[in-house]
Amino acid sequence: MCGIIGYIGNRNAAPILLEGLKRLEYRGYDSSGIGLIKRKRLAVYKKEGKIAALERTLPKDISGKPGIAHTRWATHGQVNDINAHPHASFDNRVAVVHNGIIDNYAPIKHKLKQDGISFRSETDSEVIANLIARHYQDDPEVAVQNALRQLEGTYGLIVLFTDNPDLLIGARNGSPLIVGVGEKEMLLASDVSAMLAHTKQVFYIEDRETVVLQKDSYKTVNTENSVVDKTIEKIEWELDEIEKGDYHHFMLKEICEQPETIQRAYGGGGRLLPDFGTSKLGGLNLGKQDFFEIDSVITMGMGTAYYAAMIGSYLLEHMARLPCKAERASELRYRNAIVKKNMLFFAVSQSGETLDTLSAMREIQHRGGRVLGICNVVGSTIARESDGGVYIHAGPEIAVASTKAFTSQVTVFLLLAIMIGRMRDIPASLGKRYINELTTIPGKIAFILERKAEIEQLAEKYSKARSFLFLGRGVSYPVAMEGALKLKEVSYIHAEGFSAGDIKHGPIALVNEETPSLFIAVEGETFDKTLGNMEEIKARNGRIITITNSDNERIRELSDDIFVVPETNELLSPLLTVVPLQLFAYFIASILGKDVDQPRNLAKTVTVE
Ligand code: GLU
Repeated sequence: MCGIIGYIGNRNAAPILLEGLKRLEYRGYDSSGIGLIKRKRLAVYKKEGKIAALERTLPKDISGKPGIAHTRWATHGQVNDINAHPHASFDNRVAVVHNGIIDNYAPIKHKLKQDGISFRSETDSEVIANLIARHYQDDPEVAVQNALRQLEGTYGLIVLFTDNPDLLIGARNGSPLIVGVGEKEMLLASDVSAMLAHTKQVFYIEDRETVVLQKDSYKTVNTENSVVDKTIEKIEWELDEIEKGDYHHFMLKEICEQPETIQRAYGGGGRLLPDFGTSKLGGLNLGKQDFFEIDSVITMGMGTAYYAAMIGSYLLEHMARLPCKAERASELRYRNAIVKKNMLFFAVSQSGETLDTLSAMREIQHRGGRVLGICNVVGSTIARESDGGVYIHAGPEIAVASTKAFTSQVTVFLLLAIMIGRMRDIPASLGKRYINELTTIPGKIAFILERKAEIEQLAEKYSKARSFLFLGRGVSYPVAMEGALKLKEVSYIHAEGFSAGDIKHGPIALVNEETPSLFIAVEGETFDKTLGNMEEIKARNGRIITITNSDNERIRELSDDIFVVPETNELLSPLLTVVPLQLFAYFIASILGKDVDQPRNLAKTVTVE
């Protein structure tokens, strides 16, 4: 959600910050701003709306250094120019950009007001600037640390000192913060994509650490004021991966990348052991024997990651014969959930920063539970704090609506299910079949993508509908939920995913000629039952669009429109059936002229609860 970036070095900070803000745009925001020091004076520019709006207000010859910048996703106070960041202190000696929420801002603000300090904005963040200024005599570091001691809540913070242009200070508690080390310059940001054009050498700030940056040095300290050693790591991502290339939208680019990203998820074969019909995954921090002890699994995530977690739990139950349950992390965290010695938890998050999932993971760990992460962003908080895990290696996902991360998460669950399954229940021959089948998936997705014009036509035909039902059974049920979520997210059309078996228990009341039902009907356990559910919809004059891998006659008769995906094993079918649903959502949103990559009200990385 929202983003921050800071620059200190010899170059003019303004263009670097502006470019950084554009790289952060994908995370979702409602206003933005830049603060710079020029001739020992603080200059702040901020604007509600898109970064293009901010850019229009900037002087042509804008320059200064060091500088800080922000994309805001309002939590406290209206979306307007005044509430946008940076926030300067009452005496203009201090300016801050802040991601997160200061829980105890109200009493601090009250106290500062009593001391005669006036506030300009309605935000919680402005108290940070004033509190630091209040503590600032001659040592910026001491001022920040004294202020932080009084703050409760979450923050990723960068502080600029007007009379001390040789340093920038950053601090973190619950919101990501990464230092980029360049040639006689340093960057500090909430997201590596903001600094990728300048450096690939980074290190990560942990919760409750403060970092003091000068153009050619850095120092990180913890709450006890002891210096923390940092290891510099290299970012794997390339700049062209965060650019649109020939595509109109990142969402379409990322949908089309899935043949490669799925292949990367199974390590281009490196994570597969075809001879043994199993997989091998480094980084789990669990020996083979440890898996014998596991007696149940909980998979968790939010949004799309939750649907991947649901599929994961189906796969693990089916292949590894383990009792499994998928949970929304936000629910798990606040329930008095049962955590036991032999349980294994999986935290699924593309960004690895999803606060709901991170908080649930920490709660489980505090209760002695073991949590493995399934993340995309290397070095992200969940990846670092989990007890082990698997990277999905999908490359940067920029569109807010997740697509390629979903299929890679499902692929990783498949590898896990095959590996644990082979230890418990599955003979080598079956393991080999799953693995062989998995290696055919990229080609099959490429074939679906070649036919995307067919989905575009369907989208044209149905773009006027105001409500959709998405229906599936078994492993296609989470796919139906994901298809409905995708459509809602990018087109703002109402859509609900249901288990097709559940419709007669209520949702069928919604069926009429105006509300199309989109079925995912794959050959396997529940195929005939799904067909029966289609009959029920048809009997009530509902229109039916079907995504299937079957050439069944009756399915054709029942469907107003049909899209046939290549044949595959039912357990692997989500990797294929979800692709037309992603395209359907994408094309409807484009036809309706929606902001596909940055849908309203949404943020890519949800770092607030
Ligand atoms: N709580 C702050 C505000 O509403 C920061 C929000 C953000 O993280 O962008 O201004």
